[in-house]
Amino acid sequence: MRDLIAMACDGCKRRNYTTSKNKKRQTEKFAIKKFCPSCRSHTLHKEAKV
Ligand SMILES: [Zn+2]
Repeated sequence: MRDLIAMACDGCKRRNYTTSKNKKRQTEKFAIKKFCPSCRSHTLHKEAKV
């Protein structure tokens, strides 16, 4: 029951990464700091629909 999600940059809203998460175990939205190529820096990436 793992679903594919996208991680979208909080600055430019680009979806730079995709990952999967277990919806049954992780129901809240999560955010992680990742490198954004268009911002050229590490920004907060939030969960988004693929
Ligand atoms: Zn960005």
